[in-house]
Amino acid sequence: MVEMGSVQVPNSFKYVACINEELRNLSLSGHVGFDSLPDQLVNKSTSQGFCFNILCVGETGIGKSTLMDTLFNTKFESDPATHNEPGVRLKARSYELQESNVRLKLTIVDTVGFGDQINKDDSYKPIVEYIDAQFEAYLQEELKIKRSLFNYHDTRIHACLYFIAPTGHSLKSLDLVTMKKLDSKVNIIPIIAKADTIAKNELHKFKSKIMSELVSNGVQIYQFPTDEETVAEINATMSVHLPFAVVGSTEEVKIGNKMAKARQYPWGVVQVENENHCDFVKLREMLIRVNMEDLREQTHTRHYELYRRCKLEEMGFKDTDPDSKPFSLQETYEAKRNEFLGELQKKEEEMRQMFVMRVKEKEAELKEAEKELHEKFDLLKRTHQEEKKKVEDKKKELEEEVNNFQKKKAAAQLLQSQAQQSGAQQTKKDKDKKNASFT
Ligand code: GDP
Repeated sequence: MVEMGSVQVPNSFKYVACINEELRNLSLSGHVGFDSLPDQLVNKSTSQGFCFNILCVGETGIGKSTLMDTLFNTKFESDPATHNEPGVRLKARSYELQESNVRLKLTIVDTVGFGDQINKDDSYKPIVEYIDAQFEAYLQEELKIKRSLFNYHDTRIHACLYFIAPTGHSLKSLDLVTMKKLDSKVNIIPIIAKADTIAKNELHKFKSKIMSELVSNGVQIYQFPTDEETVAEINATMSVHLPFAVVGSTEEVKIGNKMAKARQYPWGVVQVENENHCDFVKLREMLIRVNMEDLREQTHTRHYELYRRCKLEEMGFKDTDPDSKPFSLQETYEAKRNEFLGELQKKEEEMRQMFVMRVKEKEAELKEAEKELHEKFDLLKRTHQEEKKKVEDKKKELEEEVNNFQKKKAAAQLLQSQAQQSGAQQTKKDKDKKNASFT
């Protein structure tokens, strides 16, 4: 215990008490060297390299691959997708890029087959699942006992470029639904693709329509940060131009005496990097040159944090218990373990009861079958006995008939032999008579 004024406080509160004391400013009497900390940070970050992951959401053929090539001034590999995909699938490709001495591991994720199905109800699901899977992978790495976040390939999506078709009307329901499902998971930057196909006055109206639809539907898009002095002005100015109307092309066209990226038409040339022609430069400034670090930071501190919080709460972790005391990890683990064991026991009991019930049912079925068998057997036995009795009666009848027949036969034979005997005696008498008359 330590004494603070007249109050006795436990030792664990000592640290809190110290940091609550007012900070004193001291001037150094010589150079110490901690003013090199920012340089140390820059050197460390530069040697580690950076990673940046972009998700391109938009219909097949809307110009996603072309814009990526134009943005990074290179030709990324891409196989043109057909419109026959049965569903939406996400395809990620990673590249190592270097500018001056800064290395960037860039991952571009394409939504193959987006908008190509007749039923588009579930089109957003694979995208949400992909984003969550990257958060989950990071969370799993964080929860490991031996973490290696230092050289972990972070695949969490830092920016989602949402490609809006240049219809000049309004957002499609697919766009609104998808953006709404994604806005709490990723930094959405809406862009109007193929802006060279829409007239200037129509584009202006289209932009305001899109922004008002996003607001009325509660879709939260990425807000360029204005809290830091160095970027506040440019970010505030650029926000007005959202959604950026972009044109993509890697084709170099001679304009005056310079070569520039442009799209050539029979009636003229659209220069990609001319701010009077489209907002490509604004997008590049905002996405890469000014806010890349903020996008990375927002992903970690806002979107990932939300995912992590929900996931840990789902698993039963809390910061404080109902009495507002700090929640112990050990207690949470024990509580969760007991809950799990309880559920397991309940399940086991349910399964046992189910098993007993099924056995009883089977037993009853078997008994019923046995009873039916017995009844059948009895019936058969009875029929057999009746049949046997009938046969025996018939046999008796037949035997009686045979006996009668035998008796009749014996009587007939007796009669016949008597008749024969009397016939023979008569013949002898007649013979004797004859002989007597001769003599
Ligand atoms: P993805 O399927 O979304 O990756 O689309 P692609 O980048 O492969 O582009 C499909 C077609 O649209 C190609 O013929 C491109 O040349 C064309 N395209 C790309 N960007 C633009 C653009 O800004 N304006 C016009 N008019 N066509 C474009």
